[in-house]
Amino acid sequence: MTAQAQGRRVAPLMWRVARLVERRIETPTAQTLVLDVPGWPGHLPGQHVDLRLTAEDGYQAARSYSLAGPADGERIEVTVQRVNDGEVSPYLTDTYAEGDPLEVRGPVGGWFVWRTDGTAPVLLVGGGSGVVPLMAMIRARRAAGSRTPFRLVYSVRTPDDVIYADELRRRARDDQGLDVAYVYTRSAPEGWRGEPHRIGLADVNSHGWPPDLEPLCYVCGPTGFVETVADLLVGLGHPTRRVRTERFGPTG
Ligand SMILES: Cc1cc2nc3c(=O)[nH]c(=O)nc-3n(C[C@H](O)[C@H](O)[C@H](O)COP(=O)(O)OP(=O)(O)OC[C@H]3O[C@@H](n4cnc5c(N)ncnc54)[C@H](O)[C@@H]3O)c2cc1C
Repeated sequence: MTAQAQGRRVAPLMWRVARLVERRIETPTAQTLVLDVPGWPGHLPGQHVDLRLTAEDGYQAARSYSLAGPADGERIEVTVQRVNDGEVSPYLTDTYAEGDPLEVRGPVGGWFVWRTDGTAPVLLVGGGSGVVPLMAMIRARRAAGSRTPFRLVYSVRTPDDVIYADELRRRARDDQGLDVAYVYTRSAPEGWRGEPHRIGLADVNSHGWPPDLEPLCYVCGPTGFVETVADLLVGLGHPTRRVRTERFGPTG
């Protein structure tokens, strides 16, 4: 594995031209783009890339997107949640087509990563598209045959908004040591216990790990969500150095 893939930045990152090879519809508003990136150096689960678009008149726009899967040669996957009044995400979900130029820079980030030789229990807490880098960790765990205990707490508005719904269902059933719990904020499926609500202490307490097991906690989503959950975890006694966060605020 390269130094860069281990999370250490060794040289200024370069832009590489990528090609779309597959598009998967995840929800009515989220899509996974599989990109072929010649020269891709590899990455760790949790890292992200910058994607850059250039218009005919030379105008450029760049945004960050988490890598959705573990390293896979020169293939990378990102999952884009469409922001209705956004500049880049609607282009990526609605217009970007095979053959169109798209530049990729990365991998970026060396702290919000999980290494497959890690043995400490892991708590993943995702809000909305914040599940994307957490899914990369779940997929990497599976690919490495790791038995490290994982718990995912995934907060979404409605059941229709669950990204990777089928795969998560399958993995929760088949991957030993992986637990998946949902928190619905607007409407819940039949049979779900409780009323829709924003994630709170009871959710983090009952679906997380006690601090004395020294888990590593990864929290990702919109800024407000991340701050709420990180505060709850620290309040429960998790040391701040074991609570790693990634905020999906607007880029720039
Ligand atoms: C490290 C990192 C990783 C990220 N990973 C992902 C990912 O895996 N998948 C993904 O879909 N997005 C991800 N994002 C968010 C992404 O970079 C863009 O911010 C998002 O796609 C919106 O870009 P846009 O050009 O469509 O909207 P913009 O034109 O930038 O913004 C349009 C409007 O939407 C608001 N807005 C911008 N971003 C968001 C947002 N994330 N949520 C709600 N409102 C927003 C703005 O304030 C503005 O009002 C990540 C961000 C960071 C910093």
